[in-house]
Amino acid sequence: MKYIYTIDLKVTQELNYLISGDSIKEIYSLALDSYPTECCGLILKRGIRSCENVQDYLHRLDPVTHPRNSTNGFTFSAQDALFLSRNVDSTNPVKIIYHSHPDVGAYFSDEDKQNALFDGEPIYSVDHLVIDVQSSSVICSKLFRFINGDYELIAVLPGNNDK
Ligand SMILES: [Zn+2]
Repeated sequence: MKYIYTIDLKVTQELNYLISGDSIKEIYSLALDSYPTECCGLILKRGIRSCENVQDYLHRLDPVTHPRNSTNGFTFSAQDALFLSRNVDSTNPVKIIYHSHPDVGAYFSDEDKQNALFDGEPIYSVDHLVIDVQSSSVICSKLFRFINGDYELIAVLPGNNDK
C-alpha cells in the first residue's frame, strides 16, 4: 500500500508488514456499512477482528453517564473488551484499535484519549487508527501512537477512492 504520510521509514516498514491492502479494504467497507454510526475493531499481528459498538445500548440505558450515541462514540461489547484484555500477551497480539468517525474527520479526540489512557498512560500498548468516513466513501484514515506523553499522528492511509 502507498501511504500518504508516515513519520519515518521504520513506521512504513512496520505498517507494510501489519496492514495489508485487503484488510484495510475490509475495514473501510465495515466503516461504510456502519455509516452514519461508528464502527470499531482490532488489527492483530495476523488478521483483523471487527467488534460490536454497544454505545447506543449504553446511551439508552443511562444517557447521563453516556451522553454520546453511536454516531459520535464507540464502546466495545463486553465480549470484545474481554478478548482485548486477554489477548495482550498472546502470540497474536492486537497491534491497532480502529474506529470510524462519520462526517467529522479523522482526528484523535479528547474522548478517544480519555478512553485509551489510564492515569496518563495507555491501557494497551497499541496504536489507534481513525477512519474518516462519509456517506459514500472513506476519505482517508489516520494512525496515532502514544509518544512522549501524547498521541501523535504517525501515518495517513489513503481512502477507498485513492489509487
Ligand atoms: Zn473517535
